[in-house]
Amino acid sequence: MNTLQHLTGGVWEDSFEDTLLDVVDPATEEVVARVPGGCRADVDRAVAAAVRAQPAWAALPVTERVARISAWADAIAAHADELAGLECREMGKPVGVGRMFIDGAVAGLKASAAQALSYAFEETVSHPDGSATRIVRHPLGATAVITPWNFPVAMVLGALGPLLAAGNTVVVKPSERSPLSAVRLFELLDLPPGVVNLVLGDARAGAPLAEHADIQLVHFTGSVAAGKKVGAETGALLHRAVLELGGKDPVVVDADVDPVATATAVAFGAFINTGQICTSMERIYVHQDIADEFVEALVEAAGTYTIGDGRDAGVMMGPLVDERQRDTVRRHVADAVERGATVRTEGVEPAGKGFFYPATVLTGVDESMLVMTEETFGPLAPVVVVPSFEEGLERAARSRFGLAATVYTRDPGHVAAAARIPAGVVWVNQWQGGGPERLYEPAGDSGLGATGASAAYDAATRPSCVHIAAEPAS
Ligand code: NAD
Repeated sequence: MNTLQHLTGGVWEDSFEDTLLDVVDPATEEVVARVPGGCRADVDRAVAAAVRAQPAWAALPVTERVARISAWADAIAAHADELAGLECREMGKPVGVGRMFIDGAVAGLKASAAQALSYAFEETVSHPDGSATRIVRHPLGATAVITPWNFPVAMVLGALGPLLAAGNTVVVKPSERSPLSAVRLFELLDLPPGVVNLVLGDARAGAPLAEHADIQLVHFTGSVAAGKKVGAETGALLHRAVLELGGKDPVVVDADVDPVATATAVAFGAFINTGQICTSMERIYVHQDIADEFVEALVEAAGTYTIGDGRDAGVMMGPLVDERQRDTVRRHVADAVERGATVRTEGVEPAGKGFFYPATVLTGVDESMLVMTEETFGPLAPVVVVPSFEEGLERAARSRFGLAATVYTRDPGHVAAAARIPAGVVWVNQWQGGGPERLYEPAGDSGLGATGASAAYDAATRPSCVHIAAEPAS
């Protein structure tokens, strides 16, 4: 059985502790590898390597740092199929779906690193009296990236570009449930030793990393519960945190859109990656004028999400990541049905191995149900029929989460009103995506810290000011 190792200062090393966790293929329930549980000593070793490597990395010209990151991205791109295969094995995502997101993440890594070339790390403002102010944005030092299992490669790459290009070094801690692809990613690493380090394990590694005195910023992506702990730990140290947490994203479907085409788009948003996306569509508000046609088309679309082992051709939806996640989905459906909701789809859980659950449409739901208030992270599409677009928008906005939202409408006034939903990102007539100027901060329980565009560089650097008088004192 393959036992995974940490990468510290360019050297693959065993954990200081003997505790090992199973990495389980969720389609077959086979144990495919063992990963260290992690401990403070492992973290200390990795952080020390990051601290040692940082001055030399920061001393390189920014063009050189960007070129090195870009070369690493190319090496990852050349192994995208292999990485997608490993993701499938560790968390069940169909290989084709994994490949699509890895390609996007590699392009994102390159683009976000390249933004360093136009970022003002240093600028001088001259004043009429001859004095000047020089603003210098320094790298923070050693930083940490802690990621979840739902996009094992993309979540790591998504955080690294600005941190590295700004001259920081990084300790990455991937999820204990999906370490295979992270280890392979780091075998392909083409950066100086210690610039990026990998520490494996669960909260036994994550917590000491987040509260480490030498870690100046923690970029954490994961659950609200763990994110709040990380926020408390970094806050106590007066260190920075960027927290990208869970969601319960709403969709508002107006009366004037094509119900069938929109239902197809909503099925994709609710079921792709088996609904395990932080921005999955988890609350659907549809205008009563098109509700019947929309629901019928959504049920039909759900039927096309064939479930199975993600290595097999034609499989649209893999298993959930583990039994715990499937139990959450079952609990949300049972609670909704008990309170009066109707399951509209006919799919059933297949017998045998694997944590599978069918794409499921629920109607007759309301906000008294778990399925409308708690993050499900599974292939459920709960639909509420509303009498007006305004009411849909108002109910969409009523949530403790504020990650993202989607609006389908042809009405220019309703397009403008979409921004009223308190969320980091609102998509109109599309789901996912956005240009390089994309800038956002999650609202409510969904996180803290602006990111994207120049905000990622603002977060990755500390500004200082030098005021220079016109003349030396005389
Ligand atoms: P999780 O919070 O259980 O774990 C995330 C990471 O944090 C893992 O690496 C884990 O080992 C580590 N961790 C756990 N406890 C910790 C602690 N006390 N201190 C430091 N690290 C700790 O989340 P998960 O189950 O892996 O991922 C699913 C969650 O992630 C969902 O809520 C989903 O919405 C969210 N998510 C958010 C985004 C986003 O961009 N907002 C993206 C993907 C996933």
